[in-house]
Amino acid sequence: MNPAPFEYHRAGSVQEAIGLLQQFPEDAKLLAGGHSLLPVMKLRLAEPVHLIDISGVGDLRGVQEGSDGVRIGALTTHREIERDETLRQRCPLLPEIASRVGDRQTRARGTIGGALAHADPAADYPAGVVALDAELIVQGPGGERTIAATEFFLGFLTTALAPDEVLTAVRVAALPARTGVNYQKLANQASGYAVVGVAAVVTLAADGSCESARIGVTGAGASAVRATAVEEALRNRSLDEATVAAACEAADEGIDLLDDLHASADYRRRVVRGLARRAVLAAAVRAAEAWGGPGRAGLR
Ligand SMILES: Cc1cc2nc3c(=O)[nH]c(=O)nc-3n(C[C@H](O)[C@H](O)[C@H](O)COP(=O)(O)OP(=O)(O)OC[C@H]3O[C@@H](n4cnc5c(N)ncnc54)[C@H](O)[C@@H]3O)c2cc1C
Repeated sequence: MNPAPFEYHRAGSVQEAIGLLQQFPEDAKLLAGGHSLLPVMKLRLAEPVHLIDISGVGDLRGVQEGSDGVRIGALTTHREIERDETLRQRCPLLPEIASRVGDRQTRARGTIGGALAHADPAADYPAGVVALDAELIVQGPGGERTIAATEFFLGFLTTALAPDEVLTAVRVAALPARTGVNYQKLANQASGYAVVGVAAVVTLAADGSCESARIGVTGAGASAVRATAVEEALRNRSLDEATVAAACEAADEGIDLLDDLHASADYRRRVVRGLARRAVLAAAVRAAEAWGGPGRAGLR
């Protein structure tokens, strides 16, 4: 099906995009990589009258390292994130996640800003940004504000972005020493979207026990959340398989599990728990390896 007719606007700057959003408050949409918006327009699930193309706004593209961490422009594509050397060194979770998004064409065109703003329940990055405690930087008519990733996803395709705001960047603080990350995903075989995805950021204490674990879950419910019950159960504990498996039995706690044509709620519950266990163990091993301390066998 073809999209409903629309008027195309090309914004040359973030300010211009905000001005256009204000000019057409009810029926405008930003266009970035188009890999979520155009499919829903073709299905007539979205019928914006004004399409504001921000893909040429150069300020929104690229990765920069600063004193407050790494800043990733909203228009940075999945492929650029996957290959970026700064991110691979400083924040390897996002390149790992990017490499698992969709297919090659999607990764070449789709952007991190579009993926986060669209807030598909099955999208991959949301698990990563909540696990990383990332900050999302947005700009609107009143200037810039920062939204914690854990407060950004409000529900099915719904975020804390105001209708006249543009997501400009994602900021991730430097990871502490002795930290490992991992992303596990059960992918839908047709689209690549996450039936369930779990991201883990594990920091070890000097004695090899768990100083902190941050776990983000996507695909299981209407929006990405932190598995706080697991995080609490792991704190100060040894990360042997039995302890991690027992803690991860709470990975679905507080999630109103989706029950749809892709997976039943009961199946998702089991997958969330299993992927959480794998992600935590793999992140713990990487933390030990990066530290140069005890390997997996040495994790208490
Ligand atoms: C075949 C296929 C497979 C896919 N598989 C996966 C997958 O496995 N995992 C996954 O996570 N995703 C997957 N996707 C989605 C893909 O990652 C999209 O690229 C992404 O969700 C949206 O990014 P975009 O740049 O294309 O955004 P667009 O489609 O251009 O925009 C999406 C929405 O975000 C808004 N928006 C865009 N940029 C901004 C901004 N800077 N500020 C505010 N609002 C903005 C738009 O107005 C629109 O509402 C798949 C898509 C396709 C077509």
